[in-house]
Parts: sequence; C-alpha cells; structure tokens
Amino acid sequence: MRIVPVPVLLDNYAYLVIAESGAAAVVDPSEAAPVLRAVEREGATLAAIWNTHHHWDHVGGNRDLLIAHPDLRVVGYAGDRARIPGITDPVEDGAQFDFGGGMVRVIFVPAHTSGHVAYHLPLQNAVFTGDTLFAGGCGRLFEGDARMMSDSLGRLTALSADTRVFCGHEYTEKNLRFALTLEPSNAELAAKYRRVEAQVGRGEPTVPTTIAEELATNPFLRPSSEELRRVVLAKFPDCPDDPIAVFAKTRELKDSF
Ligand code: ZN
Ligand code: FE
Repeated sequence: MRIVPVPVLLDNYAYLVIAESGAAAVVDPSEAAPVLRAVEREGATLAAIWNTHHHWDHVGGNRDLLIAHPDLRVVGYAGDRARIPGITDPVEDGAQFDFGGGMVRVIFVPAHTSGHVAYHLPLQNAVFTGDTLFAGGCGRLFEGDARMMSDSLGRLTALSADTRVFCGHEYTEKNLRFALTLEPSNAELAAKYRRVEAQVGRGEPTVPTTIAEELATNPFLRPSSEELRRVVLAKFPDCPDDPIAVFAKTRELKDSF
C-alpha cells in the first residue's frame, strides 16, 4: 500500500491510497482533474472516494470523478448523507471496511463539522485527519465547540505515537509560527519550524507528520505546557485556568492570527 499526496486547489491535499493490486482510493478530492492525472501517473485504477467531511474543498471533485468512474464507492459519514455528493457507503463511528487487503477504520471526530470523520489504516500506521488535526494546528470550530474538538483530537492522539498523520491542508508553516507565539521556549517546536521552513522553501509537502510530533509541537494538544497556559492566561485575565477554557482561547487567538 502506497500513499501519494496530491496537491489540489491552493493549499489542499487529496491523497491516493494505492493497494498492491493497483486499486486506488482517493481521500478528499477537492477537484477531479489533478486526481485523475495522479491516478494515471501512478498506473493505478480509481475504485473509491473517502470523504472526511462535506466542505466543498474536500468533496468538490466527487461528481466529476463519478462521471469518469460511475462504479466508484463513495464513503462518508452517514449523518452527512445529504451533504456528501454521490455517497454510496454511509459509515458510522467505529465502522471497518476492507481496502486492497488492508483494514480501514472510521473514527468520528466532530467539531470542525458535525459529521467529520478520520480514516485510520492500522496496518499502514496512517490516519487521514481532514480538517480536524493539522500539522501544528486544528480546524476551525464551525459546528462544534472547544470541548468537542478537544475530545475529537484526543481520539486521534490515542493512536500509536508513530502513526503518520495526513491532513487536509498545507497550513503547517503558519500554524507553527502561531505556536511559537505561545511557546517560544519549546525547542522541539523551534526545530520543527526551521525544518518546515526549509521544506516549504524547496516546494516540498510538510506532510505526513506523526502523532508524536504533534503532541510535542501542536498548541491544541499541549494543555500540559506551563508556558502555553501562562501566555494564554496573561492575554485573557478573566479566562478560568482549565484546559478546555485555555483551548478555546487558543483557538480564538488562532482565528485572528
Ligand atoms: Zn473543512
Ligand atoms: Fe478544508
């Protein structure tokens, strides 16, 4: 099984998951053309779409891909049936399905949207997190609150530390620049920022990251950081000193960064 990032739109990633047989699934095809080109370049055969959530920049290519390949399976959250174009395989939290001889597990991670899911491939040590967990950040809270997002992120960080995280956008550099404002003395964060700056300079993707790297650098996963707590509470003197309140204020700061 191979995983190939496909840059789409301005800063989205679709991903091809290609089985030994050549059958490919595409995660979050924002648009069809670059996906079809990548499938051809890889010598694969498109068999399925896995959508993490209903936003147009994640499902925008569904219809055109279905025109090119009418037999595609389209997997998405059952509760979002009405918002995911062409859905054929509605799934719930904990659903498991086979792909190319490997197992795929659905993890319900709402908050960015109320029907957001992640796709976990335990045998490949990989998870597709859409707009829930980003390298260095998390999605905006469009249909959930800080507690819901924090719980959803917790379900992802419960995966093994070496799990590779494939997220929906190339936001890493800006995310880490924000993170550094909250944890200027986090050495691992500073080192990752330098690494990411160099990758971006070379035009390389900064994905995948790993759960371990995120736990060490992502401000939305660091309630244990004394420095982050201190910096956030100093900006919001009325904010109660509890992890969810600090998370909410961190999200608020990021919204306007
Ligand atoms: Zn989104
Ligand atoms: Fe998005």
